[in-house]
Amino acid sequence: MSGRRRPADDEATARESVVAAMRRLDALGLNRGSTGNASLRFAREGRPGMLITPTGADATSLQAADLCWVGDDGARQGPWAPSSESPLHQAALRARPDANAVLHTHAEHATALGCTGRALPAFHYMVAVAGGDDVPLVPYASFGSDALAQGVAQALRSRRACLLAQHGMVSAGTTMAQALAIMIEVESLCRTYLLALAAGTPAILDGEEMARVVRRFGDYGRKKLG
Ligand SMILES: [Zn+2]
Repeated sequence: MSGRRRPADDEATARESVVAAMRRLDALGLNRGSTGNASLRFAREGRPGMLITPTGADATSLQAADLCWVGDDGARQGPWAPSSESPLHQAALRARPDANAVLHTHAEHATALGCTGRALPAFHYMVAVAGGDDVPLVPYASFGSDALAQGVAQALRSRRACLLAQHGMVSAGTTMAQALAIMIEVESLCRTYLLALAAGTPAILDGEEMARVVRRFGDYGRKKLG
């Protein structure tokens, strides 16, 4: 044993990372009011589950103690009801055993693109940050529904982000920092794609090149120099 803690071993640290992510998304303008939500895989007393933001939580007033814990068995702990998108977070974490953090926002440009019925294609090599040659679009289903959760789970089995038609976007990362970095990048790419669409017809990179970039991005955001 190295004695090194796993990312979410310490509950206080885990809770702080969820609150910090929500505040960062708010500060960047990717989240507004109480529309977004965040979760972090966290086992409590040996029971698998997740810490998640409460329903109606506003990032500006959110405190670590406000977070809910939801067990895989449906058990709940915390002062508030968990986010109405809990099924989406649970399904995302189940679909990606390698992911520990899930973020959901209505970031403007990702949402705008999803409202046109488009996925984000490989118009730029950075699209590979989501793990493939597009950021897929999950068909519309009511917020908080099992249908939406299942759509997200299906999309995330082969990607680290997806757009939600007439709704928003989701990102998943090994760490909260990675989920945040992916969400920020995908929102920026959606903005650029919308600009490119307004100016003309964007060229799309072929599958072979995108597969090469995905391989090079295998450890995206985790590479140390030297
Ligand atoms: Zn939403």
